[in-house]
Amino acid sequence: MAKITTQGLEYERASTLEETLIRITEAAQKAGASSLPMAIQMAAQEAQYFTTWPDDIPAGSIGWYGIDLDGTLSYFDEYISEAHIGEPVPAMAQRVRELLAEGKDVRIFTARVDGGEVAIAMGNPEGHKYRDVDRIRRIIQDYTEKHFGKRLPVTNRKDYGMIELWDDRARHIVTNTGKPCCGSI
Ligand SMILES: [Mg+2]
Repeated sequence: MAKITTQGLEYERASTLEETLIRITEAAQKAGASSLPMAIQMAAQEAQYFTTWPDDIPAGSIGWYGIDLDGTLSYFDEYISEAHIGEPVPAMAQRVRELLAEGKDVRIFTARVDGGEVAIAMGNPEGHKYRDVDRIRRIIQDYTEKHFGKRLPVTNRKDYGMIELWDDRARHIVTNTGKPCCGSI
């Protein structure tokens, strides 16, 4: 589990949110009253971590390939419903099959599992249909099982393990230059 140190507070993340919050509290008690605002911020971050992090990430993964869903792996034309996912885009589906055949850790990277709050805040009444993240994840994993024979992990979270992101909205830039890249893929 990760050791986390910020502004004088140090704790090790536990396997549950409850235990992690206890550790933050203990760390805050040790660090003194001035650490309280930071402790609250850390607790909020941990709550976010534990509620959005899929529990099916392969143990020992040394890196993963993120594949966006709508418009990347699946055809997206117009919004139909939270339960609808377009047919696989053949070239992208083939790429995913090749990655899986190579034993790569492939994850679906999609805002569909963000809990719907942003859509609601932006005035989209469909947002509430995404509140049940477990259900939305199940729908997506049913899809990956149907088309790739495997229930792939689903996340909306980038981390240090992400090796590549395939996404129809991302802009690829040349590292350290800010320059848009180059049609290399
Ligand atoms: Mg997309």
